[in-house]
Amino acid sequence: MVKRCSLCGASAVTWIPESKQYLCAEHYLEYFERRVLKTIEKFRLLKNVKKLLIAVSGGKDSTVLLYVMHKFFSREINLVGFTIDLGIGKYSRESTEIAIRNYKKLGIEYIVVNLKRSYGFDIDDSVRFRKWIKRPPCSICGIVKRYLMNKVALEINADAIATGHNLDDLALFMMSALQGGKVEELTKLTLYNPSINGFVAKIKPLGLVSDKETLLYALISGLEFYEEECPYAPQRGLRTTIIKALDVAENNHPGFKRYFVLNMIRRVIPKLPKPQGRIMRCAICNMPASNNVCSFCKIRARINEVIQKYRNK
Ligand SMILES: [Zn+2]
Ligand SMILES: [Zn+2]
Repeated sequence: MVKRCSLCGASAVTWIPESKQYLCAEHYLEYFERRVLKTIEKFRLLKNVKKLLIAVSGGKDSTVLLYVMHKFFSREINLVGFTIDLGIGKYSRESTEIAIRNYKKLGIEYIVVNLKRSYGFDIDDSVRFRKWIKRPPCSICGIVKRYLMNKVALEINADAIATGHNLDDLALFMMSALQGGKVEELTKLTLYNPSINGFVAKIKPLGLVSDKETLLYALISGLEFYEEECPYAPQRGLRTTIIKALDVAENNHPGFKRYFVLNMIRRVIPKLPKPQGRIMRCAICNMPASNNVCSFCKIRARINEVIQKYRNK
């Protein structure tokens, strides 16, 4: 039997367990957009934001973020897209191309930084020379992204940086931080991180919509996005176990993830001690840092040194 949209009777594309509704394509898009706009409004994510840097990888989440921000805010806010070509083989080449095509299609100003060209190394190097660098590529990638996002945002005077983290990402990060007792990390897992110690404010407008919901939105809207996962994303280990556990909880108790994340954001995280620290500058690049030399400059120097030394091995 064809399921009918609970609102208009057209043929349904999805079932929303939390509100016990079938929705057609059109009403689903409306539902999703309302959810994002409500998040932005309730948590005042765009308060005093006149210029916004949007971090876009070319994957579904950041593509949806770019599209929705453009659809609803391009008239009042100066939106600038930002993409890093991380040098992860075909993955980076193709996802960067898709990001650029989307910027052009929407007529959004954008900045692309090629890691190898600008800094002499890329993520593939960190894998190739892993034996000597002794650091997993994902941790290097995280440092690179955080650093470059902040640097570019400061350079263009952006009031905030928007990232495409969704509900599933937040639930996973929160569970991992809780499990590891990482209180300081936990304090940053909110939808709105104010500017502190010279770092630009960060917002997560998709923080309360799930992975599946974002994918469905991208598909129905016919958005072009890069579908494959990063080849270095870990397929096993604790991270994968937590993802599975959260999915089981969600299936048995629809809305579990949203409830968990909202409770953390509203009731738990505000009670934690605020991140302290003072404004420090990196001795090498002069960007805000939590040490004398920032983690990006440290890792950059190390990888470049290893490349020089072992390039022929
Ligand atoms: Zn409908
Ligand atoms: Zn530095």
